[in-house]
Order: sequence, then structure tokens, then C-alpha cells
Amino acid sequence: MNIHEYQAKEILKKFKIPVQDGFVLDDISEAENILSKVESELGSSQFVVKAQIHAGGRGKGGGVKFSPNKESAKENIQNILGMTLITPQTGEAGQKVRKVMVTEGIDIADEYYLAITLDRSTGQNVIMASTEGGVEIEEVAAATPEKIIRTWVDPSFGLKRFAALDMGIKLGFKGDLLKQFVKLLTNLYACYESTDASIVEINPLVVTEKDELIALDAKFNFDSNALYRQADILALRDEHEEDPTELEASKYHLNYIKLEGNVGCMVNGAGLAMGTMDIIKLRGGNPANFLDVGGGANVETVKNGFKIILSDENVKAVLINIFGGIVRCDRVANGIIEAVKELDLNVPVVVRLAGTNADIAKELLNNSGVSIIAAESLSEAADKVVEAATVGVS
Ligand code: GDP
Ligand code: MN
Repeated sequence: MNIHEYQAKEILKKFKIPVQDGFVLDDISEAENILSKVESELGSSQFVVKAQIHAGGRGKGGGVKFSPNKESAKENIQNILGMTLITPQTGEAGQKVRKVMVTEGIDIADEYYLAITLDRSTGQNVIMASTEGGVEIEEVAAATPEKIIRTWVDPSFGLKRFAALDMGIKLGFKGDLLKQFVKLLTNLYACYESTDASIVEINPLVVTEKDELIALDAKFNFDSNALYRQADILALRDEHEEDPTELEASKYHLNYIKLEGNVGCMVNGAGLAMGTMDIIKLRGGNPANFLDVGGGANVETVKNGFKIILSDENVKAVLINIFGGIVRCDRVANGIIEAVKELDLNVPVVVRLAGTNADIAKELLNNSGVSIIAAESLSEAADKVVEAATVGVS
């Protein structure tokens, strides 16, 4: 789960990490009041107007504007609030800006990059830092990989002071700035751990003209499997930022990810779902989605799965690939029959059921009168669905 910059900064403040502070508004009528607050409460007479959307690269898309005075800040608020912001991360459709953060304007001496995430290959947390902040870290990684330094932290021992110190020295910090960095990184690690974040990224982390270390931007991603014990964080969810179909699917407890292709997939189990997508690709097709209906698929799950798949206009054919282990194939077959009858299906559906009660399931499908293309093996199913999606027969 992602959150907005203004929410991320609130979390950082709780962990005593200095941030470029500000206030949020969602209506232009609040602009005067907010600008006065930045002036009186934060003591800044220059402002930065920042679009609040989850995607990064806002600056590049025109969603972050430095404003030397109130007049220009107000103009920038007017332009950014309500705009559809297109950044390298939003895709062509862009994202509507519903909230704007107006912050103090900071005089920057240097920009750094700092992030913590999980390194699955070592089973440890990795801290990544670079003197090349402000730009996209992927560009640094591609052009000058030696400029990214990394430290691995064993989660059972936590971040040691010497490791934080070593990183600060490698970044070139000295004296009081080195002290500030060690404190900031120590607090950031504590924050990362106790919020169940899967990534926290500060880009840029800046040194100001007054030699203060400040987080100018902040990004979090949280482990969704841990949200049950992070009620405060779950409350920060902004459904406007989520794909509407994925949101709908999550209400039915279906794991659905929308993709670009035209072959809808309904599969039980994440591994089998990935395998199914692979074989569709191998046979020259393109999956329209990933959908894992879970181990306990029943008539309702299958129906809801169908609804979600078919709400995607790109879908030209559907492949149902179910292995009956815990779930029984006859139950799934009943779900398919009910769904096809109820949903007025106008795309071909290829069905491959294997495992427990597969024979009964086949009979049910054969006798149901609904038009379904049956397949025995997965490769046969893939061939049939790719052909159906290409030819467009129904
Ligand atoms: P992003 O483009 O979505 O990553 O948004 P950021 O919050 O990182 O802002 C983009 C860029 O705007 C930063 O890298 C800075 O160069 C610039 N910027 C943001 N706030 C300030 C500020 O207070 N002062 C100055 N001088 N530049 C700023
Ligand atoms: Mn940034």
C-alpha cells in the first residue's frame, strides 16, 4: 500500500526526522490561509507547491513548483489543484490531483538519496544511499552504479551505530552533519521496522544552506500482509489512487492485477496463475490479468471473478484453469455454469479443470447447455484460448 507525501512526512515527524514541512489543501478557497500559516508557523516567505499523487516524478511532470512569493504560490496552487498530472510513473492517462501540499521553500546546498528496503536474496534489510539525489535512482544505477552505496542489516540485530556512521562517512558527511545523518538514519530504520514498511525512500535528502539535513520528499510502501496490525497506516489509504477494478476485486477477496493483454485468466493459486500466464505468452497470446481466486473457490468466487475479468473491455477470450486440490472441480463447474447463464457472456471461454472430481465437472459442463470450449491439458487450453482471442469467435 502506498501513501501520499504529506502523510509520509507526518510519519517521519513522529520518528523525529526533520522534514520540509507544510500544509495540505483540497480547495483553492483555503489558499490564503494556508500560505499565511506557512509564513507564520514555519517562518518561510518562499513556498513550494506540491501535487499529492502516489506516483513519483511529479517534478518532471510539472507537479512541483518553487514559488518565491505568495502571488506565484497562489497561481501555482490554482494551476496544480485539479490538474491531471502525467509523470513517468502515472502512464499516459495521468492522475487527477485532488490535494496539494504547500511547504516551506528551502535553500538547498546538496541533494542525496536514502532508502531502506528488503533484500529478499539475503533475507536482510538493505540501506541504499547516494550523493546523486534528486534524480531518479534508476538512472544513477544505470549510468554510475558505483555511486550507490549499500549496507545490509540483519533484522534480528538491527542497525548498529558503526554501520550508520560508516555510511555517513562514505557519503562524505563530517562533523555536525555526520552526527545529524547517523541520528536520522537510526530513526529512519526504526520507522521502517515499526511501520512494517517494505520500502521507505527519501529522494532527495538535502543539506540546506544552513547545514541542516532535511527530508524534502518521502515515499513509503507498506507490506499489505501486515496491515492487520497497522490500523493507523491502513487509515491513510486513498482509494482514488487505486485501479478501480483491483479495488472491486479486493472487496471480494480476489487477488487481481490488471495487465495489458486480451486473454482473461481465472486460476486458483498464485503459482499456477503465473504458470498459466507464462504459457499464454509462450503460445503467442497476452494475458489481460492475473487472477488468483484462492484455494477455497466456490460458485460466488467464480462468478465475481468473471465479473471482474469481463469489466475489462480488452478481454477477447477467457481461460479458466483450475486444479482441484482443496477446491473440488464440480463446484467450480457449477460456478462457471451459473456465471455464464447469469452474466450474458459474449466472449469465448476455454475451461481446463484437473484434479478432484474433474470427471464429474466435465459431465456437468457437457450437460449444461452453456457454450464452453473444453480442454484437457494446459498447453491445449492455451492454444485454444489464444486462437479464440485472435479470431474473436464466440
Ligand atoms: P518528485 O518529483 O515527485 O520526486 O518530488 P520532490 O518532492 O522530490 O520534488 C522534486 C524536486 O523539486 C526536488 O528534487 C527539488 O529539486 C525540487 N524542490 C522541492 N522542494 C524544494 C525546495 O524547498 N527548494 C528547492 N530549491 N527545490 C525544491
Ligand atoms: Mn522526489
